[in-house]
Amino acid sequence: AVPLVVAISTAVSANNGLLIRNRTAFENARLITTVIFDKTGTLTQGSHEIAAVVTFDKAVDEREMLRLAAGVEQNSEHFIAQSILRKMKDEGIAVPPAQSFNYLPGKGLEGIVEGKDVKVVGPNYLKEFNMQVPASEAEEGVETVVYTLVDAKPVGYITMRDQIREESAEAIRVLKANGIKNLLLTGDNERVAKSVSDKLQMDGFLANVLPHQKQEKVKELQAKGEFVAMTGDGVNDAPALAQADVGIAVGSGTDVAAETADIILVNSNPQDIASLILFGKATYRKMI
Ligand code: ADP
Ligand code: MG
Repeated sequence: AVPLVVAISTAVSANNGLLIRNRTAFENARLITTVIFDKTGTLTQGSHEIAAVVTFDKAVDEREMLRLAAGVEQNSEHFIAQSILRKMKDEGIAVPPAQSFNYLPGKGLEGIVEGKDVKVVGPNYLKEFNMQVPASEAEEGVETVVYTLVDAKPVGYITMRDQIREESAEAIRVLKANGIKNLLLTGDNERVAKSVSDKLQMDGFLANVLPHQKQEKVKELQAKGEFVAMTGDGVNDAPALAQADVGIAVGSGTDVAAETADIILVNSNPQDIASLILFGKATYRKMI
């Protein structure tokens, strides 16, 4: 039966935007009971157009903050980094070199730019160190906010707009119609997570999740007897992709995610996940 499995799975995958890296995982796709989705770049486009650049420190103006932020962000593959660098290009501002840089997994980046210690981080970082900042004027629900710190002092924030992928709602609908649970796990803030989860009528969400917590959540569900598929696109998602029974990387994501995953969504279309499970069920029902 093996050559038949190979033949069928190759045909199914070629027609459905799937690149199968691990055939056993593909065969097991029919057993999936819960699909966990990463938000940015998976359910959303990850385009992150910059909405606002605001400073609350008189010593640093907007342009200067953006410049310092871009200095560290040029080392990141994240969508947030890409939008900041695009903005620099559009405005014709030169990106200064960074002397060193460091990932703060699930929180952001830090580095030395022009002798200053610069951090670009999410709200979870500020919370961890109990830092109070003026409330951002981000539009309710739709915007990601990152803060810039210079020499450990918060100087301002940048807000970015992202859009839910057109195919996401249908993907969730089909999964639900087939009795498969769905869950949103994101490193982004509560407001954004809730907005996406509500709009897509998902079963639930967890916000402010760090990379190792994504992995722990997968483990926790597995311990409850769930057969878990995890979808993600980032370096941050790699531990959870590896832990999942079926790890699915979004094609437009990072190489690290793709290398860790069992299956790659070539067209970055979340609907292909539902197709994968349903085709798996149909195929193996016929063969057994
Ligand atoms: P998601 O789970 O939605 O894909 P990530 O885990 O990739 O989100 O990122 C979580 C959060 O970490 C972001 O919302 C942001 O606050 C922060 N972050 C990640 N990468 C960067 C970066 N390059 N610059 C600034 N902040 C970042
Ligand atoms: Mg992501």
